[in-house]
Amino acid sequence: MIYQFIREQVLETVLKAVEANLIRLSAGNISTRAEDGLVAITPSGVKYRGMLAEDISIIDLNGELIDGPPPSSETPMHTAIYRNVPHVNSICHAHSPYAITFAMLGDDIPAVNLELMFCGAPIPVAPWACPGTPTAGEIAVAIYKQRPELKVLLLRQHGLVAIGENLENAFDMALNAEVGCQTYYQARLLGQPLSLTHEQLAEIREAYNL
Ligand SMILES: [Zn+2]
Repeated sequence: MIYQFIREQVLETVLKAVEANLIRLSAGNISTRAEDGLVAITPSGVKYRGMLAEDISIIDLNGELIDGPPPSSETPMHTAIYRNVPHVNSICHAHSPYAITFAMLGDDIPAVNLELMFCGAPIPVAPWACPGTPTAGEIAVAIYKQRPELKVLLLRQHGLVAIGENLENAFDMALNAEVGCQTYYQARLLGQPLSLTHEQLAEIREAYNL
């Protein structure tokens, strides 16, 4: 099997994401690019539990299939990010419940806890684009290019997109965003969450090298 190592890495990450309730059934998708520029990505419409490494698709940066089953329907968003944002080597896209909740409201998620700050909060909600279209990718690229510190954005009515230098980073950022959104949601149910001052934000950024 070609590209066995990155296929196994993508499989391992998607199973971790299922375990963490970031990904259910076949919703959400994960990819990583190899040094030669080819990309390993989860396949289209296949439930992740029971999946094997050979079920992971290998594509080029234009989304053309090189090996394996048909790739995720959201491949155009992944390849657009890889083509245009050079420091990104891995992407974790999740339809996770708290990210979808805030993606339906449309407001930026403020930097109100550490998890959200790790993601580069305030986290924006991208304007609407139908999942799987090239437009969805163009919008994500425009936001990431404008905000180089940003690791996660929300897609309106849809979910989150986390980026990283490797699969572990991208997965960690997706999980941070989901936990950060969950706790922010809970705090809003109980009252008005406190905000951090500019000095406190700067102190945290320095302490955590953000
Ligand atoms: Zn999606």
